[in-house]
Amino acid sequence: MSWSQRQQAGELYDQMIVLVGSAIRLLCGEAGVFVVSNEAFDPQSSAEYIAYRVPELLVPSFLAMTQKGHQPNSLHPLVVDTEPIAPPFIARLGLYDTDKEDANEAESESGDEVRGAVQTEAACREFERCSLFVHDPQGFLGYLHYVRPLGANSCFEQGDETQEIEDTRGTLLLFIAQLAAGLRASLKSQSLLKEQGRLAAIFQHSTEGILTVDQAMRIIDFNPAMERLTGWRENEVLGRFYYDVLRPRDLQGNEVGLQGSPLLQAFAGQAVANREMVISSRDGQRFPVRVTASWVRSGRGEPMNGILNVRDITREREEEEQRSTFISVISHELQTPIAIIKGYASTLARTDASFEPASVRTRLLAIEEEADRLNKLVGNLLYASRIQAGGLQMEIAPLDLVPLIEGVARRLHARAPEVTIHLDLPDNLPVVMADRDRIEEVLQNLLDNAIKYSPHERVISVVCRATGDEVIVSVTDRGMGISVRDQEEIFQRFQRGRESSSYSLPGAGLGLYICRVIVEALGGHIWVESTLHQGSTFSFSLPRVERAQLPMVVF
Ligand code: ADP
Repeated sequence: MSWSQRQQAGELYDQMIVLVGSAIRLLCGEAGVFVVSNEAFDPQSSAEYIAYRVPELLVPSFLAMTQKGHQPNSLHPLVVDTEPIAPPFIARLGLYDTDKEDANEAESESGDEVRGAVQTEAACREFERCSLFVHDPQGFLGYLHYVRPLGANSCFEQGDETQEIEDTRGTLLLFIAQLAAGLRASLKSQSLLKEQGRLAAIFQHSTEGILTVDQAMRIIDFNPAMERLTGWRENEVLGRFYYDVLRPRDLQGNEVGLQGSPLLQAFAGQAVANREMVISSRDGQRFPVRVTASWVRSGRGEPMNGILNVRDITREREEEEQRSTFISVISHELQTPIAIIKGYASTLARTDASFEPASVRTRLLAIEEEADRLNKLVGNLLYASRIQAGGLQMEIAPLDLVPLIEGVARRLHARAPEVTIHLDLPDNLPVVMADRDRIEEVLQNLLDNAIKYSPHERVISVVCRATGDEVIVSVTDRGMGISVRDQEEIFQRFQRGRESSSYSLPGAGLGLYICRVIVEALGGHIWVESTLHQGSTFSFSLPRVERAQLPMVVF
């Protein structure tokens, strides 16, 4: 609820206390509580009440009177409970009979506390409990429970003669009807204010953007989600034509024009629900959204206020794109080796042809290479899905990178003797904290890429150096390089550089993503420096053992 609403609610409550207080006074009461019937107003809310001169702590005692046996009803709207009220209760209500107390005090000048207390009790005892059934032609509103001095008959209860009793009863019913009318109006306003508060909370805290406009399509509300979405502050857009602020376009980027704008279409009675379009933020950036437009109409059906719900679907779109990229990349990457394997295998299986042992061997090697490629792709896919599911487990321990790098380089040389590998590994390289197997995978991936993306000059160097906190490993090649634009994206899932595609090199765009997740999980970073057509250097850092603040197992 906003500050002004809180103020209004407070004022309304004060007015209701005055109303209840005046009614209690007219009934000769001193203090009391009006207990609102739940059925009459908000059935979900717990007991509501308006207390007059009753401290908060004592309210439950008055509320309990509603549950007690003899309740007043429409035939006997006023019931007086003759059971004496416990003196401490009256004392806590602060309703001493001060005249009597003064007299008592004068008598007990000696200051005899016990006698004084007994006398106070006597003064307190002289109160009685009354309950009034408050109703009107629309129904029951609640009970007014109050205490009054013993036998203090109000003007509504006087008269001995039958006629007099009838008259005062008529006056009592009239009084109840007026009290009920006043209370009903106030309670109605209170429940409207609550409703307003609920709507304001939804508006303020909704994660969807909401804006409302008047009949002239000028913005009258702009919620915080809308501010976050568009970069506009509410005070900058209030009173502005909504179309100018959002500049809506269709998905192809064409301006939709005022006639095609969602609020105008909804104004004309067309249903506008979950319509996808593009809007612009304050700094001119465009992004896709899903909008729903509707109008609040008057009793005569005239549109009064338009409401536009706006949901940013950039992420959904990206995910959709990723899914379709995934499917096309994977199907292509799977199909190619399968086709090659099948081709060679069927050739070798021909019964009408005989092959030289060397040519058989060449074909078998090709089959083996393609099977490896398939194996790697499936492995990377499993890896990526495990990362997504949060199931990547690391076993972190002190690790000496030198023997690890030497081992990987040796195996690579055995596999691809035509590749030249230079190692620059300083003596006394500090030990790092890492998971051995995962770091081997990272290094393997970077070296494989360095070879794959160096179609001409296959010279690779691996350099290690230590800084105060970390050890940095760099893998440099003299290959095709990566454009600055691609450098920002290649560490994301399924992202491939444009250059590699133009060379038709196989790949699914998963290797660097996996490397990044591993290195970051170990508390390090990975980055690339590259010049197109000259080569690239991929580096990653790992925390030195004495600087690492890692748990031993990371999921
Ligand atoms: P993949 O190699 O299967 O496509 P990666 O995630 O390993 O997947 O690499 C993502 C992209 O980064 C590659 O498609 C390529 O465009 C680019 N890339 C990676 N390493 C190199 C490199 N050493 N030289 C040039 N481009 C590279």
